[in-house]
Amino acid sequence: MKDFKRYLVTAALPYANGPLHIGHMAGVYVPADIYVRYKRAKKTDIKFICGSDEHGVPITIRALKEGVSPQQIVDKYHAIIKESFEQMGISFDIYSRTSNKIHHETASEFFKKMYDDGLFEEKETEQYYDEKAKTFLADRYIIGTCPVCGNENAYGDQCERCGSSLSPDQLINPRSTLSDAVPVKKKTKHWYFPLQNYESWLKEWILEGHKEWKNNVYGQCKSWLDNGLQSRAMTRDSNWGVKVPLPDAEGKVLYVWFDAPIGYISATKELTSDWKDYWCKEDTRLIHFIGKDNIVFHCIIFPAMLKAHRGFVLADNVPANEFLNIEGEKVSTSRNWAVWVNEYVKDFPSCEDVLRYVLAANMPETKDNDFTWKDFQDRNNSELVAIFGNFVNRTFVLMHKLCGGKVPKLHEEILVDLDKTLIENIQQSTLNVQRSIEEFKFRDALFEVIDLARKGNKYLQEKEPWKKVQGPNEENQKLIDNCLHLCLQLTANLAILINPFLPTTAKKMLHLMKVVDKILDWDNAGKLKLLSVGYSLRPPELLFRKIEDEEIKAQVEKLRANADKALNGKVQAASGKGQVVSPKDQETSTRKPEIQYDDFARLDLRVATILSAEKVAKADKLLKLVVDLGFEKRTIVSGIALHFNPDELVGKQVVIVANLAPRKLKGIESNGMILSAEDENGKLHLINPEEIINPGAGVS
Ligand SMILES: [Zn+2]
Repeated sequence: MKDFKRYLVTAALPYANGPLHIGHMAGVYVPADIYVRYKRAKKTDIKFICGSDEHGVPITIRALKEGVSPQQIVDKYHAIIKESFEQMGISFDIYSRTSNKIHHETASEFFKKMYDDGLFEEKETEQYYDEKAKTFLADRYIIGTCPVCGNENAYGDQCERCGSSLSPDQLINPRSTLSDAVPVKKKTKHWYFPLQNYESWLKEWILEGHKEWKNNVYGQCKSWLDNGLQSRAMTRDSNWGVKVPLPDAEGKVLYVWFDAPIGYISATKELTSDWKDYWCKEDTRLIHFIGKDNIVFHCIIFPAMLKAHRGFVLADNVPANEFLNIEGEKVSTSRNWAVWVNEYVKDFPSCEDVLRYVLAANMPETKDNDFTWKDFQDRNNSELVAIFGNFVNRTFVLMHKLCGGKVPKLHEEILVDLDKTLIENIQQSTLNVQRSIEEFKFRDALFEVIDLARKGNKYLQEKEPWKKVQGPNEENQKLIDNCLHLCLQLTANLAILINPFLPTTAKKMLHLMKVVDKILDWDNAGKLKLLSVGYSLRPPELLFRKIEDEEIKAQVEKLRANADKALNGKVQAASGKGQVVSPKDQETSTRKPEIQYDDFARLDLRVATILSAEKVAKADKLLKLVVDLGFEKRTIVSGIALHFNPDELVGKQVVIVANLAPRKLKGIESNGMILSAEDENGKLHLINPEEIINPGAGVS
């Protein structure tokens, strides 16, 4: 490897549209922080850069929906995200944000230079525009009827009911999700970056020059390059973002993936006046920590931008991780299937190192991994408590009991093989941890540290210093001294080795040993004379606490309840709406307990055709329906009047619960219940077969 003078480490800019979840931590921030803390302990000149990504369409959409400004959205989440990082001990040198002035200037200058050098293509295209909301619409923000299945809420890029991939042109009755206005086509001009011009250079740079990159990263790059690159628009029609610095570009901003990576540069500028040393000198090693979904932006587009602009160093490595699933399912923020960092730190105060430990030990380095609360508990109780914490605690207890609370002397003349092996283990582990971290294999590195603590426990078990107290004499005391002297030096070494992973724990160990931070210098790792003979140490304190079954049970329930809350309101029986189930119950009800097939089989679900529909007098929400079940006709009163015009319902098919006990609503006997689903806007949709079928057909 090249001899680098300084390091610049960036961690993917989190999007200021929601809080952080543990998948973000495991994928990007915990590994980046381990690496940086290790390098700092090695006295490397290093800067650790991050900040909030605050531009892009989803933020403007969210602001519109919530009736606030985009700035209010990003202010809120920037603060939450920043605090979560601090609470988790992620030690950025700067945590900036792309709405800062310095970033707007930097990104703007970057674009302008590329423009002046003639590096963009100017193209005019037609795009959909919402005249009411006065904004161009991304395909996702146009909905209409699917030409394939008739779903009235198909998106401009896809119908979620039948899975057809669509374009907005294909939708019947297209409308804007922002204003319900009918989108119109409007001409718009944008600046495209011809990535194909950099294809052969990228091939040489990555495929020939960086064969050492992780397989998942190298493979994804190769596949992009093999498929051929195309021009990409680097500007968008929007008022939220970095304004395109050209005279004829009113209402246009830089594409968020053009400006966001430049955010690394502007944050470095904000941090230090020496920023050019880090960004422009060839002996800087630039490393991007990211998740796998950002590989193309960091390995292809951003390097091509830097290359085209000229004058910047390029990434030497991009150790992207795969995804972390939760309890066997993919993280989904819309389904609220996630473990949120800001909630974790509230539920487990002073346990940030436990989460760091579990995420590092189970890091999705080579494939997607799964986080389960049970594994979280097991790793805490059987590794942190029972191995690492236990070794340190036993050492301190015994040292106080058998050596008067002071570091005992080492009598080298009577060292035996067991002692010598322990010394070798300390030295070997140091080398192994170091090599693994350098290779971005953080799981292996952490395993090695815990394994060294395990060897410490084994050593104590074999030496049994407590047995030598019976009939103490000078020789026995020397054996006790040697054992505890070595265990204490091992403790100091463990503090150094664990520090990049669990910095708070390392600090606690320094406190116990009454030594200063300086001892954590990586140069000290593998050495024996870290604690001076005769030095008195503090009484033992536990480093970790056991995590109880009830705490884990509560977390699993919370995870499911949150997901149900998100799901609830989406699917529910329409009949009871506003009548039987109070709105409050809907909000707080959780996922129902598991049932057996027989429970389900007791429901008689059937397809029915609506024969007539009329409003019920003095009841805004109720409709009286007569439905045909094939074998009989019956009356059902349903609370769907606010969602459907009675005339439109006639002839439609629905699914009903046919064996529900009769009930009187406004004096009318209702014999059954109509099923419907509620979307995120509170609108109801009937559940029905894809095509008209014979009424009375059973549903199972
Ligand atoms: Zn469809």
